[in-house]
Amino acid sequence: MLNFTSLYSGSSGNCLFVETENTKILVDAGVSLKRIETGLTSINVSPEDIDGVIVTHEHSDHIQSLGNLSKKFNIPVYATSKTYDAMPKQTEKISDINKNNIKIDEHFSIGDINITPFQIPHDAADPCGFTLVVDNKKISIATDIGHMNNNILKYIDGSEFILLEANYDSNVLKYTKYPFKLKERIAGPNGHLSNKIAGQTINYLIKSGLKNAVLGHLSKESNFPELAYQTVIDELLSNGTNIDDFKLSVANRDLPGKLIHIN
Ligand SMILES: [Zn+2]
Ligand SMILES: [Zn+2]
Repeated sequence: MLNFTSLYSGSSGNCLFVETENTKILVDAGVSLKRIETGLTSINVSPEDIDGVIVTHEHSDHIQSLGNLSKKFNIPVYATSKTYDAMPKQTEKISDINKNNIKIDEHFSIGDINITPFQIPHDAADPCGFTLVVDNKKISIATDIGHMNNNILKYIDGSEFILLEANYDSNVLKYTKYPFKLKERIAGPNGHLSNKIAGQTINYLIKSGLKNAVLGHLSKESNFPELAYQTVIDELLSNGTNIDDFKLSVANRDLPGKLIHIN
């Protein structure tokens, strides 16, 4: 068994859930503790049963309640040492025994989930995405990506499922009220991934067996769920890719999505 649920995904807060028969983990804890508890309850999971939280990077939309979550329910945290250093207010709440140091490109396991953090281009201390392998089935979590590159593609290649960032539409971004500097950051090489590049990435991954993708980390101001979805579908169709057996959906920013059964 390998199940995925996006509890919350978007530029306002991220928390994802993955489970196997004997292991339950969260990726990031970027909403309030109350919302994490509510989200888990809605999928019939008790926070006490979470075996670990793996952390992508220290931006607040990924770690807002990490320290309190770990402390209240005695949950192990997995982050790189640079990420711990970059979020001192969270790190000080995590007991030493729950502090696990991970390294980019080095495998580790939580229960029966084999995890590899891979580097992503983003303006944080030591940001990463994750591949999770269970019984030879690979799933990938890749958000906060300034630009797609061969290193990321090498890691996520062969995934059955991916939660992939589709942060903004280039045209909508141009017309939002954001200050120029912020627009420049979002579209820059260490900012976020556009719908179009998400589409190209999914098109590439379908050739190596991708069956299901959820678009996540959508911007509230520079994107719309329908637009992200349609841009990716258009990219696939314009490449003549067969999408009969492929499932695409968009993660909800504020509500837990439905459970996706991968294996
Ligand atoms: Zn970020
Ligand atoms: Zn983020």
